[in-house]
Amino acid sequence: MSAHIIDGKALAQTVRAELADKAAALKATQGIAPCLAVILVGEDPASAVYVKNKVMACEQAGFRSLKATYPANVEPAVVLGKIAELNADPSVHGILVQLPLPQQFDSDAVLEAIDPAKDVDGFHAENVGALMQGKPRFIPCTPHGVMKMLESAKVPLKGAEAVIVGRSNIVGKPMAMLLLAQSCTVTVCHSRTRDLAFHTRRADILVAAVGQAKMITGDLIKRGATVIDVGINRTADGKLCGDVDFESAQEIAGAITPVPGGVGPMTIAMLLANTLEAAQRSAR
Ligand code: NDP
Repeated sequence: MSAHIIDGKALAQTVRAELADKAAALKATQGIAPCLAVILVGEDPASAVYVKNKVMACEQAGFRSLKATYPANVEPAVVLGKIAELNADPSVHGILVQLPLPQQFDSDAVLEAIDPAKDVDGFHAENVGALMQGKPRFIPCTPHGVMKMLESAKVPLKGAEAVIVGRSNIVGKPMAMLLLAQSCTVTVCHSRTRDLAFHTRRADILVAAVGQAKMITGDLIKRGATVIDVGINRTADGKLCGDVDFESAQEIAGAITPVPGGVGPMTIAMLLANTLEAAQRSAR
């Protein structure tokens, strides 16, 4: 039997429509339009597409957006100056620096320069610490989107074996914290994991966030498991695909997210949710 497809695109549309209503209400009652500022450095085509999609999503939800773009060889001080300016601007509620940054940048220093109250990506150390303590201010968008998808698919979390493949600061680690907070038993795998299959085959919930096309094949999945594919890769013929081999995985999994149309759209929806929240907090 084929797995239930968790439709991230449809869920994201619903979430974005709700956020648009809330943004309109904030404007009507407090005169505040949520505003996201996006900083893009360099000419990486994938980053340019992500930024374009984020700006477009803001506009569709009635948010304001600002975009600052710089050439790849820009001095980091220029970008830090822009961040300071946006930090000080009360009409800006969220600030996002599109990663990765060119080599001359210390990415951590850039992320730390963002006012934590405007850090809608949730990457500032203060916000990471708050998440660790179970008192999140901004939940990083991709893992937040995954949690919403699990909730929408009514996946039981308490006591579930959750296995995450990937331990990055932006996906794997915060994902682990969120699942742990919901009382999953969490295992985090990475490139040095000795026997990946041993772990993935006992997962009730398997999250793949690796960046390797189709590496999680059906034989690595427990029958009936919920499989969340965070990966965004391109095949040789230019098509998008995830870290999960969808064809073989859907025969074994109980539920699965597609790529495209899965986690990606939810990531953007959660960015808007964080921006709206920042704007609402600014009104208090
Ligand atoms: P990173 O490259 O930062 O992290 C990849 C992780 O995968 C690392 O922890 C690495 O281990 C681990 N890994 C690499 N090879 C293996 C292997 N063979 N077996 C087990 N683990 C392995 O990537 P990100 O977390 O930033 O992104 C992961 C994927 O998700 C990418 O495809 C990215 O494009 C996508 N993505 C999608 C988003 C969305 O909105 N859908 C948002 C963000 C990312 P180690 O730490 O040991 O090196």
